[in-house]
Amino acid sequence: MSVAEIRDLILEWALVPGSDAIQPMMVTSNWKKNWRSQSLVIVSCADAEGRISGASDHVVPSIMITRRHNEKVGEYMEYRCVNRAAIDATCLRACKSFFEIGMKKLYSKNTFAFNMCNGYIHTSPPTLLNNGHILRPDPAKPFPLSDPQERQLVDVGISEIKSQIELTSLSGWVYYDPFLRFLHTIGPTKFPLIKTIRFSGTVKLHECQWEVCRGKCDDDLVMCLQLYIPIIQSLLPNLEKIILYASKDVRPDPPAEDDEEDAEEDDGNKDKKEPPTCESRLLALLENEMRTLSTIKSLEVFDIWHNRIELAEPTMRWFKERAARRAHKKLVADLAEQLAGAKIASQA
Ligand SMILES: [Zn+2]
Repeated sequence: MSVAEIRDLILEWALVPGSDAIQPMMVTSNWKKNWRSQSLVIVSCADAEGRISGASDHVVPSIMITRRHNEKVGEYMEYRCVNRAAIDATCLRACKSFFEIGMKKLYSKNTFAFNMCNGYIHTSPPTLLNNGHILRPDPAKPFPLSDPQERQLVDVGISEIKSQIELTSLSGWVYYDPFLRFLHTIGPTKFPLIKTIRFSGTVKLHECQWEVCRGKCDDDLVMCLQLYIPIIQSLLPNLEKIILYASKDVRPDPPAEDDEEDAEEDDGNKDKKEPPTCESRLLALLENEMRTLSTIKSLEVFDIWHNRIELAEPTMRWFKERAARRAHKKLVADLAEQLAGAKIASQA
């Protein structure tokens, strides 16, 4: 094994926590009730056999120290397990070359995981600035994107992220959204390095009302993805894989029986469209907007128990087949180029 290979192994050991995902949390607040600093959580994924371990701390048991004892009771081995940080980026400060190689590993080899934003004041808390002003921009996302004015707001957000505008001027929906705030924090030089992203959230069926929801609901997964898609298209040129964890709405609209009664009451309204279900909303997203993501080679869609969602299978296959077609096309083109090169060489 060469020195470079050993160096790469060490850097990877320190910077890539295996198949687990990194969930960065960038929103800070100095509000006494809800103080928070920038942090990260390592979210465990299912292993090869499909067993899932829950969200873990950012410490992993790793180094075993063994010692041979030879005492009166007889000979025995003592094992000690020493915890280490799942990610220890301090090695990047060693020198320029460690920084360059390690940075690529940190961003390209890891999966970054994000939950949907919850705009409630305690989950998206304000912060007091040095000048005495309270910073609490509006976390509401631009929606629907079919409205040109709202769409324009998305473009403004994209340019704010790209230029890493001051936090005090950042749009509230970028400021409080975990994924967008992460992009704003890392900056454009890291964007091309990101390969895999994971989003988790609920496909919502209800309109939130304070009296019922009490600020417990996160933003709708489908609405957020519709918003993220143009942002991913313009900021992450090498994103290859998206993993979705979609859960069903726990507070759906009233059951179907009530709907029927209502329909009978307002006569003439019997041809009303079927109300959307979690499945129909997710399916529409997968078959339309998701497929416009031009760089994606692989999509995985799971429910919260880590079972693959069946209705997503055609889209998962679609991405796989497109990637295979592109790879084949590239191979043919490369071969043609090589042949042409060989011909020129033989003529000369
Ligand atoms: Zn709600």
